[in-house]
Amino acid sequence: MQTMKYIFFYTFLTAFSSVTFGQSLTDSIALEKIKTTSNSNSSISQAIRQLADINGPRLLGTLNYYNSANWAKQELKRFGTDTAYFESFDKQYRGWTVKSFNMEMTKPNFMHIIAYPLAYTKSTKGTIVAPVTFLANNDSLKYLKGKLKGKILLLGQDFYSFNTSHQILSDRVSKELLQQAAENPDPNDLMIGYHSRRSTNEAIASQEQRRVDFKSFFQFCEQEGVVALIEPSDYPYGILHTDGNHNVPSYNKQKNITPIASFVIANEHFGRLVRLIASGITPTIKLNLETTFNYNPEYNINVVADIKGTDKELSEQQVIIGAHLDSWHGGTGAVDNAAGCAVMLEAIRILKASGLRPKRTIKICLWGGEEQVFAGSRAYVNNHVGNLDNGNKKKDFQNISAYFNLDNGTGKIRGIYTQGNSKVKPIFEEYFSPFKASGNGTVTLQNANQTDHELFDALNIPAFQFIQDPLNYISVVHHTTMDVAEYVNENDLKESAIIVAYLIYKVANQETLLPRRDFISVLPNLAGSTTFFIEGFENAKSVSLVSDFNNWNMFGTPLAKVKGGWSCKLDLSKGKYLYKYIIDGDWTADPKTPKEKLLKDGKGHAGLTEVVVK
Ligand SMILES: [Zn+2]
Repeated sequence: MQTMKYIFFYTFLTAFSSVTFGQSLTDSIALEKIKTTSNSNSSISQAIRQLADINGPRLLGTLNYYNSANWAKQELKRFGTDTAYFESFDKQYRGWTVKSFNMEMTKPNFMHIIAYPLAYTKSTKGTIVAPVTFLANNDSLKYLKGKLKGKILLLGQDFYSFNTSHQILSDRVSKELLQQAAENPDPNDLMIGYHSRRSTNEAIASQEQRRVDFKSFFQFCEQEGVVALIEPSDYPYGILHTDGNHNVPSYNKQKNITPIASFVIANEHFGRLVRLIASGITPTIKLNLETTFNYNPEYNINVVADIKGTDKELSEQQVIIGAHLDSWHGGTGAVDNAAGCAVMLEAIRILKASGLRPKRTIKICLWGGEEQVFAGSRAYVNNHVGNLDNGNKKKDFQNISAYFNLDNGTGKIRGIYTQGNSKVKPIFEEYFSPFKASGNGTVTLQNANQTDHELFDALNIPAFQFIQDPLNYISVVHHTTMDVAEYVNENDLKESAIIVAYLIYKVANQETLLPRRDFISVLPNLAGSTTFFIEGFENAKSVSLVSDFNNWNMFGTPLAKVKGGWSCKLDLSKGKYLYKYIIDGDWTADPKTPKEKLLKDGKGHAGLTEVVVK
């Protein structure tokens, strides 16, 4: 009896000792249940195998994407969600698939070229053997008129010598940096994470330059009889950066832009070709490319599922989690973003299997077309939350407590970005307190942008991306041929799923909805003292401003259509700001600023114009 009593007392003590400050006993029991459930029947390995290895790359509008959506829906049903269904976001988005290709240098001697086609480019007419011409920049185009027939064009100057590179290939965020981010009051300071999709600022700048009206560039090439385009990857070690063709919206069936066969090749092979040309030798390349376009409206769907809330009144309200299910085509989208989907799916499995009963409804959304300017989540927000063009609210606007997004690779969750929402910061500090000891509880005011939560955030729904360890994300896998299962860290994903499950359980059960930021209007402001005007673009559907004054929020500062162009007038506090426009989703430098005067902010934004407010 004595021993029994002792054991009982000891167990009781241990249970208490794992209760962290700010956490009640019920919370720590919930967390224990979550952890125990996570340890049996984890769904993470299978998700990565199915999505990345079996289904392969999941580009918008393709059969691979559709198969993945079907699989995810079945998986959610298996976990026991109350609903699991598709929602269409079709806007004539078409799919595109690579069937076959090859590239070799045949003169002055043989070299197999590490290459991959860029998305949405069309097939070559069989196998081509052609000489190569180097085009350093678009300006030299006019001098080449009439001289390009039957040639392969090498584009761009941004190939590097990596012989002095000390780039760290895989890393975690340091304790010190997390601490600084937690204390920093300015949401615009880029202390951790990314605002940018590209690996280097230089690459952004050169890409911006080359994007200048690429549609007419493709037309010029066709008229001139160019047979293929080749550009260098901005990654080292033969890794290929394989995304779209310069953000030209060729995924739209109506626009029907089909750029000529275009490839990215290893930076190192590009360098050799350029050096050969500089030595007076014209290399010859043999290549072929076979691609297909398809339009299947039934493939353009988000996957949605609900765990209905148990509280009669609160079940009307929602806590939403999401990740994008689509990917680029060069790898298998294992890290970007099968990893994020695997975590969110596992969080749902854990909640159901642990027997926890959230009071509010928990919803999971797996988005399509994130890589094509948020096609899936944009439609969802427009349909259910509010109109992103005019700010008119829709049914769910009042009822969404929060949206949580996971899309920064495989690295484990180290905390959360709060998008400058200082009211939510102390609440999250409490909710993350059980993870503080293991270094995963940082709450920062910093913004994280450029993934699906940004659309909810634009309407001032509390919407967040998690802080994640970078691991190989930017150095190796982001939109590259190496976005494959080898770089997925399943232990990290497992830890992340525990954090997500606990966090959404807490938000679903707290007394009130999460507090929203002081309101940012999405209606154009025409009453302020600083005027922004962009001439022309009569046929554009939307024009907005992105700047350091609006946290680079793509939807926060729209312009109104006025005579001769688009405009807004803002009340900005004294200071210097950098801005550019977004025209129908495309980041565009102010055409009034001469190209050589465009600026960079050192935080990943390029092609900027300065405005001084006195
Ligand atoms: Zn992503």
